[in-house]
Amino acid sequence: ERMVEIERFDEEVSYEATLRPSSWDEYIGQEKIKKNLKVFIEASKKREEALDHILFFGPPGLGKTTIANIISTEMGANIKTTAAPMIEKAGDLAALLTNIEEGDILFIDEIHRMSPAIEEILYPAMEDFRLDIIIGSGPAAQTVKIDLPRFTLIGATTRAGMLSNPLRERFGMHFRMQFYTPGELAQIVAQAAQKLDKPAQIHAATEIARRSRGTPRIALRLLKRVRDFSEVANEEEVTLQRAQYALDELGVNNLGFDEQDIQLLELLVSAKNKPMGLSTIGAALSEDEGTIEDVLEPYLIANGYIERTARGRIATQKSYEHFKLGGVKDGLF
Ligand code: ADP
Repeated sequence: ERMVEIERFDEEVSYEATLRPSSWDEYIGQEKIKKNLKVFIEASKKREEALDHILFFGPPGLGKTTIANIISTEMGANIKTTAAPMIEKAGDLAALLTNIEEGDILFIDEIHRMSPAIEEILYPAMEDFRLDIIIGSGPAAQTVKIDLPRFTLIGATTRAGMLSNPLRERFGMHFRMQFYTPGELAQIVAQAAQKLDKPAQIHAATEIARRSRGTPRIALRLLKRVRDFSEVANEEEVTLQRAQYALDELGVNNLGFDEQDIQLLELLVSAKNKPMGLSTIGAALSEDEGTIEDVLEPYLIANGYIERTARGRIATQKSYEHFKLGGVKDGLF
């Protein structure tokens, strides 16, 4: 079973890699971020300096890895990609940093999961391009200093709040990724469908976009499934009808809520306006609290369906209306 899962994961990754935009033109949306980055990239190229360290935050699947790769292409630099949980020992980080060349980019995903000991080594590396490594222990311990080439660290995190202040402050640029509008997602879907040689009619692309929780990764995954239905029906193009049929079959409702979103909203609505704590929600949904905070909630909060309060989460009037309940205003509870 595990093998099947791994294979499926690999397939998903290579599908994403095929569709990953490689230039600004293909990278739809996030206009403000793109505009700023283009200026900073041009300036650092003019000065022939490495780009300042950059931090991206936002929910998974919004294009953090993709934009890091485009930056490296634009800078004409190599990029090395890793994730914080993979850097377990000081030596792991030292190996990464001593293997990069002047101007290269080191991309660290899930940077909020870096251990404090590793963070300590990262500080002088980011600030002074210097590695201080302690060899041995006790009175015989020695610090070895190694000069590093000037590099750019790009960090990505789903949780800005979990990053330590000293680490956050060492990034010269901070960018918060936004959820995509249905129009932007429709462009992403149409562009991907074209690359896959199965063009999507504009209304079909829009339908997939509307149901994708503002997230390119979800839009691409849904496109993949819809394309299967079109394939089996021997259709040259993805049509609106096929898209609607396939998405209904997959249980994605037309606000883009999936089953877990609906479970969470139903739970909060049933609490009748009493705030519910994260641990209670986690237990009720059999879901990890981190996943609820990073993946499930941001979209529902951004669209005004739930609110975070000091005492817990509550459903908003919009949620009550969605479930055809009068809610607070009508004095139902
Ligand atoms: P993250 O690193 O934030 O989890 P990724 O960069 O891996 O997200 O993006 C997931 C997929 O969505 C990518 O493979 C890419 O094809 C697509 N994607 C993300 N952002 C965009 C965008 N702005 N335009 C087009 N496609 C995008």
